[in-house]
Amino acid sequence: MTADAKLSSYRKKRNFKKTPEPSGASNTKSNEPLFVIQEHDATALHYDFRIEIDGVLKSWAIPKGVSTNPAEKHLAIPTEDHPMDYAHFEGIIPEGNYGAGVVMVWDIGTYQNLKEDLWSMRTCYKKGRIELFLHGKKLQGRYALIKTGAEDNTRWLFLKMRDEYADKLIKGKTKSALTGRTLKQIAKATSKNESLK
Ligand code: MN
Repeated sequence: MTADAKLSSYRKKRNFKKTPEPSGASNTKSNEPLFVIQEHDATALHYDFRIEIDGVLKSWAIPKGVSTNPAEKHLAIPTEDHPMDYAHFEGIIPEGNYGAGVVMVWDIGTYQNLKEDLWSMRTCYKKGRIELFLHGKKLQGRYALIKTGAEDNTRWLFLKMRDEYADKLIKGKTKSALTGRTLKQIAKATSKNESLK
């Protein structure tokens, strides 16, 4: 499937005249595969974990966010593939639009597939067993996404794997990894300066 075909669900949910989110028209692959975690203050506050696989950002919503404690396994619910340029999206999705609320780039960086000797990321995703080494601004080290239970791809678990980065305190938890702003500051700045055409 082409990246365009994978993004059809993403595009159907959105009216790009009414939301500042990227349409993915200039969808480009990065040199090193990207990951991003966005804090999203929508109907319910949650975190969106996205990793680049085959030219799109595969995405999961994680209601409880991430933890560096390997004993904490957090539910991760798959959502639609997002375009590559979504990784740098920070701002307000206006009322009345899908996912309305403030979005912050909570962490961003590159990752390595820890299973790359055996399986491509596409295969890891299909198998429901993804093991990554994250090189983020906040998160470092080994993390896993594991599909659980039924075959319907609705439930995964996100967890820290044991390594020297386990149980480390996360610094700057309330601030954007891109701009250093809090959710409140993003909301204020965006509503003042960026009005939609
Ligand atoms: Mn979200």
